[in-house]
Amino acid sequence: MASPSDTASLPVPWPENVEIKLYTGGCHCKAIRYEFAYPDIYSMPIVSCNCSICDNHGALNVSTYDKDFRFTKGTANDLTPYTFGSGQVVHRFCPTCGTSIGPTVPGGAFVVVNTRTIDNIDLKRLHLKHVEGKSVASLDEFVL
Ligand SMILES: [Zn+2]
Repeated sequence: MASPSDTASLPVPWPENVEIKLYTGGCHCKAIRYEFAYPDIYSMPIVSCNCSICDNHGALNVSTYDKDFRFTKGTANDLTPYTFGSGQVVHRFCPTCGTSIGPTVPGGAFVVVNTRTIDNIDLKRLHLKHVEGKSVASLDEFVL
């Protein structure tokens, strides 16, 4: 197993002295809305992971700190959780429209946002970082 020092941490560290923007988004039926602070999303690596569930959803993920993310409509308790495998990651869905907002790692102090759920996101401008999620057994081995 790789040691933490061999792996980039999640969230991806923010460059210093960059402008921080506020992003908003939510699920399709608008029962769940969120906002989070992040550097220019088009300048940061976006995780395109080939693990079974990201592959299945077509998720393109960005992770941010818990303190910089909040729900503006609905709460985390309104989402339907789903875990599999090691159970380390809790995937979350709107129970009405099924949108995958993005998973969390309890105690991990960060939130993952599926960039496809961000308002007015221009997918063509994202810088995708392809990650071999299918070949790792735990988050500790998740190399960015
Ligand atoms: Zn919904």
